[in-house]
Amino acid sequence: MSVAVLPGDGIGPEVVREARRALEALAPDLELEPHLFGGQAIRDTGDSLPEETLAACKASEAVLKAPIGDPEFDAAEVRPEQGMLRLRTELDVYANLRPAQSEGIDLLIVRELVGGLYFGEKGVREDGTVFDTMEYHPSQVERIARRAFELADGRRKRVVSVDKANVLETSRMWRRVVTQVAADFEDVEVEHMLVDNAAMQLASNPAQFDVLVTENMFGDILSDLAAAVTGGLGLAPSASLSDGGPGIFEPVHGSAPDIAGLGVANPAAMLRSTALMLDHGLGRPEEARRLEAAIESTLASHPTRDLGGSATTAEFGDAVLRDLS
Ligand code: NAD
Repeated sequence: MSVAVLPGDGIGPEVVREARRALEALAPDLELEPHLFGGQAIRDTGDSLPEETLAACKASEAVLKAPIGDPEFDAAEVRPEQGMLRLRTELDVYANLRPAQSEGIDLLIVRELVGGLYFGEKGVREDGTVFDTMEYHPSQVERIARRAFELADGRRKRVVSVDKANVLETSRMWRRVVTQVAADFEDVEVEHMLVDNAAMQLASNPAQFDVLVTENMFGDILSDLAAAVTGGLGLAPSASLSDGGPGIFEPVHGSAPDIAGLGVANPAAMLRSTALMLDHGLGRPEEARRLEAAIESTLASHPTRDLGGSATTAEFGDAVLRDLS
């Protein structure tokens, strides 16, 4: 089984190193192949997603991706984030899973990732008006809703579908399609919630949620909120899945240029993303559970600076390895 590893920018190579060490201990049969991506790829090749990297990702079983992005490219024409959107589209990873857990909270946000406001028609009219549009085909809603119900079926069997049906046409269609899909899952309870209410409920009573399914931008914002109420960005993992092809597994946080090179980044989100890869990307739930357990006990024994502790990135990784051995 081959895994395309994208070490990325900023703290990316630092946190990916710990993921590699954990994988080498847990699943030594995996072939871990590093490839250029993001800011480093622009510097070396002029393209944030070089053809060789794209081909390797497509040929792999799963893509383990560290964050990309560098202030150097903020105003540049070619930017690292363009490669990221292209990679998601090329692999058609339409289902972005963002679990958020802490005491009494165990929720999963299922965010549509390759449609909606980030992918609709955009431009500038002659009078200077700038526009972005939210567009969805019912088939795009159907497949993300089905994925959310399947996941809920293996959990606490509750889906909250988040939309803005009191204002948006796309949301009214979204609600209709989710209701149709729900009919195929008799055991799963479904509720529709407006996005503004969902944000308030997530902030005030996150324990009520099991699975939330929502549009691309709504999911982007709500999942950062869910990360904030369950311990912060350093802990939040994600999995982006297609139907059958390789998935992309990456932390929610960015490349954190402010702490890059200091050796203090929290590798927990990268390691949790690695556990999601073992489970959802490689079909190895047993190794995933072992890694999750090692991360949990290390979070308690060796908290990093962002969690009020003093463990370095490498010390955290060492403790995970000791737990795995
Ligand atoms: P960021 O997530 O990189 O950092 C926000 C804050 O959280 C910073 O103070 C940072 O030090 C801290 N932080 C983040 N991850 C941490 C970790 N693992 N351990 C400890 N502290 C951590 O967000 P930003 O500063 O808005 O973005 C920086 C760059 O990352 C930008 O170029 C942005 O485009 C990019 N970005 C990339 C991705 C991705 O690759 N998926 C996601 C978000 C942002």
